Amino acid sequence: MSKIVLASGNVGKLKEFSAPLSELDMDIIPQSDFNVSEAEETGLTFVENAIIKARHACLYTGLPAIADDSGIEVDALNGEPGIYSARYSGIGASNQQNLQALLDALKDIPEPKRTARYQCVIVYLSHAEDPTPIICQASWEGKILLAPVGLGGFGYDPIFWVQESNCSAAELTSHQKYTVSHRGKAIRQLLGYLKSHKIEHK
Ligand code: IMP
Repeated sequence: MSKIVLASGNVGKLKEFSAPLSELDMDIIPQSDFNVSEAEETGLTFVENAIIKARHACLYTGLPAIADDSGIEVDALNGEPGIYSARYSGIGASNQQNLQALLDALKDIPEPKRTARYQCVIVYLSHAEDPTPIICQASWEGKILLAPVGLGGFGYDPIFWVQESNCSAAELTSHQKYTVSHRGKAIRQLLGYLKSHKIEHK
């Protein structure tokens, strides 16, 4: 079975990736199994950062790699925290600290103006110098709540209100989240591509 390394150390993301990717007749191995360090995210876009992470994992393992870069954009903050979502409250900040920093930044913003969206870019590289990365991108619209609700998901999910489900993202089951989320949509694009192409010939 061919092997692909999954270039993420984020436990929440790894959970969301593992079930759908298990559909593929490929061995998907988290980069932690190879002791790959976290790549430095020096890009200014989700695409650049996803490529940096995938390339880093290819270089260290010699295998094809899948990486995602994602974040939340808040309209009242001109799109912040965006690519800085994982470090909004500082490098090494916890999910809880980042979530609280976002609530603090929005404390004077009324409900109708708290519109936001998650963005996700997933990149597949067949090798470190692959000049034609597969790039999948999707978003998920919502609103930032005044306080956390729900215990599921990860990151900003307890304060991300999902209009169509009338609940926070942290109240969705993992299956429900996969159906509507930025990452679920981008993963389905990637699965479609990998299933319909002979990726070993890339
Ligand atoms: P990355 O690991 O550098 O791509 O950072 C992504 C960050 O965006 C995460 O640490 C979360 O803070 C946030 N994020 C991305 N996707 C989600 C999600 O599905 N739920 C909650 N937070 C998310």
